[in-house]
Amino acid sequence: MINLFQPNLGDDELALIKEVFDSNWIGKGKVVKDFEEGFANSLLSNSSHFLSTTSCTEAIFLSTKLFNFVKGDEIIVPAISFPSIGSAIVDSGAKIVFCDVDKHSLNTRAKDIQKVLSDKTKAVYITHYGGVPCDMDEIIQLCNQHKVLVIEDSACAVRSFYKGQACGTIGDMGMWSFDAMKTLSTADGGMMYIKNFHKRIEAEEALYLGLPVKSKSGLDSSSDSVNWWEFEMNRTGRRAIMNNVTAAMGLSQLSKLDGFINQRKDIHTKYMKMLKNVGDIQLPLVPDFKHTSSYYFFWIQTKYRDELAKFLLNKGIYTTFRYWPLNKIELFSKYTDNECLNSDYAALHTLNIPLHQSLSDEDVNLIINGIKEFYAQQ
Ligand SMILES: *Cc1c(COP(=O)(O)O)cnc(C)c1O
Repeated sequence: MINLFQPNLGDDELALIKEVFDSNWIGKGKVVKDFEEGFANSLLSNSSHFLSTTSCTEAIFLSTKLFNFVKGDEIIVPAISFPSIGSAIVDSGAKIVFCDVDKHSLNTRAKDIQKVLSDKTKAVYITHYGGVPCDMDEIIQLCNQHKVLVIEDSACAVRSFYKGQACGTIGDMGMWSFDAMKTLSTADGGMMYIKNFHKRIEAEEALYLGLPVKSKSGLDSSSDSVNWWEFEMNRTGRRAIMNNVTAAMGLSQLSKLDGFINQRKDIHTKYMKMLKNVGDIQLPLVPDFKHTSSYYFFWIQTKYRDELAKFLLNKGIYTTFRYWPLNKIELFSKYTDNECLNSDYAALHTLNIPLHQSLSDEDVNLIINGIKEFYAQQ
């Protein structure tokens, strides 16, 4: 089976993990800090705004707490979003309000957000679909004007840039995923960017038992207080921190990230060239603003989507559609009733086909020829 995604791990990662084992410090320590700094640097950003965690989902849940979403607040979410966003908002007590997306890019736009803004809107979650940035200038301008927070789910967009600024660092908060299916993988892991420095400290405390970041007290053997087992807490806290073992994987993967993205770009380019004018295929549109993509997804749109998916599966090629619209899931749709026609269209026509750095030329040709064969029979 040709997979949709696949990690790319080996001896380099193992060598760094071995160093961590040898150091006897497998918990959160210097390697985590190095990874946070390295990650921030690779986004041309300042590491004091960054914080690692156990998953992107954890960062999404944390965002609802950091910005204090409560009953009565409305939170705008593009219908095509990752399910954790819906769950986190429902759990916060705030109301989800769905907005539509562009039919072909599956990215939300300022005009989609504007349609559902109200005086109760507190925040907007945007997703850079497949690694292609949303048009952020318009979105930020609209949200600033209405004092609405912008939170960027950048799980698809590791090292995507919008007009020179890294996706995830443009709004009030952004988050990335390093789960097993992402371009940079630590098996599980996540990172966040938080614009406001006080919130960044709050986040660090909330993700580590609520222990004060500044104070030397608490569970810290280097404490110099008289009774070093005493501690204060500023808030309630979870325990959702990265450790040196996964951070070592992250550091190794980070050093190869540009190469990974370039390999994906080559495959993306080949798909764009070879699938042009095949059947009724609509290829992804390239936005006209200055940007770079992480090439996380490749997708096509066709009225034969379901048949094509089954045809390819029979040939050992796994394809799918990401992400099934949240307004079609009863758990979320019962809170809201607005229509999202472009998202409905995308959900019926879009097929994500394999794109990862371990695909061989042979795999890519098999996929392209499989698709051509399907249309030759129509
Ligand atoms: C993978 C992904 C997530 C969740 O990441 P985890 O680290 O698995 O929690 C969130 N949003 C998007 C767009 C994703 O692709």
